[in-house]
Amino acid sequence: MTEFVWGAATDVGRVRRANQDRHLVEDGMFVVADGMGGHSGGEIASEVTVDSLRGSGVISTLDELIDRVQEANAAVVARARREPALRGMGTTVSLLAELVRAGPHRLGIANVGDSRLYRLTADGLHQHTVDHSLVEALVRDGRLSRAEAANHPQRNIVTRALGIDEKVLVDAWELVPVAGDRYVICSDGLFGEIGAPEICEVLSTVEDPQSAAEDLVSRACAAGGRDNVTVVVVDIAQADSVDDVPDDRVTDTRKALPDGIFEGHHVADPPAADADDANPDYPNPDDPNPDDIVLPPVGKVFTWRLAAFVVAVLMVLVALVGSLAVYARSTYYVGVEGQEIVIYQGRPGGVLWFDATLETRSGLLVGALEPHDAELVLDGLEFDNLEDAEAHIEDLREQLSPETP
Ligand code: MN
Repeated sequence: MTEFVWGAATDVGRVRRANQDRHLVEDGMFVVADGMGGHSGGEIASEVTVDSLRGSGVISTLDELIDRVQEANAAVVARARREPALRGMGTTVSLLAELVRAGPHRLGIANVGDSRLYRLTADGLHQHTVDHSLVEALVRDGRLSRAEAANHPQRNIVTRALGIDEKVLVDAWELVPVAGDRYVICSDGLFGEIGAPEICEVLSTVEDPQSAAEDLVSRACAAGGRDNVTVVVVDIAQADSVDDVPDDRVTDTRKALPDGIFEGHHVADPPAADADDANPDYPNPDDPNPDDIVLPPVGKVFTWRLAAFVVAVLMVLVALVGSLAVYARSTYYVGVEGQEIVIYQGRPGGVLWFDATLETRSGLLVGALEPHDAELVLDGLEFDNLEDAEAHIEDLREQLSPETP
């Protein structure tokens, strides 16, 4: 059997109002889920996922582990269906679980989205999972450098998430547990703020997993804390002895859709580690050109694009209303109130809800003007400023006062 010692920490960070990350630490099941979506959808998606995985009981095979992830996905999808306000919510999931079976026990890793699982061994820190994110795809395409990706404005966009579609592609691996290995599961709030060298340094110097998790979280917050940050540290304290442990610990790799998708050609027996070619249903997730199921860019994509769109629309509206107000209020006109000739600030008839307001009374009656002048005043005679309007009033006053020299 495998003996785990673990620690976990999470923080809302310094920018976000809510912590949409959720984690689960049970003996033999360690999960980080990073939710996304408005109307508290993000929190709910990650919460539903963690609740679905809680108390999973004994899991023996990688297929069973993948089934658990598919069940969690189905639970999030079902919840979004019931509550239309939660539509579009989604969550990442990265997990480490013990595979309990006859013979030496194994570890199972499953991943969807851009949370990560790292492994620290005597050789150093190894990022085990591959991010399902836009920037990762751009980096793999050679269109973005790692450094550019780290600060890319769209680094939050994921290409896979739970809760979006009934079918979700799950990356999964079976590994040999080795005493002394340390696993770290984290949300992007960690590696979005601090680099791998710093993560490695903390993990290799802080022995207690709880202290290491807390240290990493507080460093991510200190570095900016632009996102929720969650870290779960799991040490393999004891493991069944196995001959010939692969360097990367991996004994089996899957990329699996739910049952039914591969109906008729489902591989009954787990393929051997080197048998990817013989089992096209299970391509290697590390393949640089994975046979990806292309899902519509939703989840974070949707949320961020929608937010940006709403902000842009609001900005345009504010600018429009602002310039409208300036336009509506910047001029004066000579008009009438009842019979009296007056000066209004604004435009004749007003502009939408910006009514002209009375500025100055003249004491002159419009009926006393020559018909042509009266017509102009009744229509409203516009001027760029108050002085010009007042000057026009004085002109009219002179016309109506023949005794003035
Ligand atoms: Mn995040």
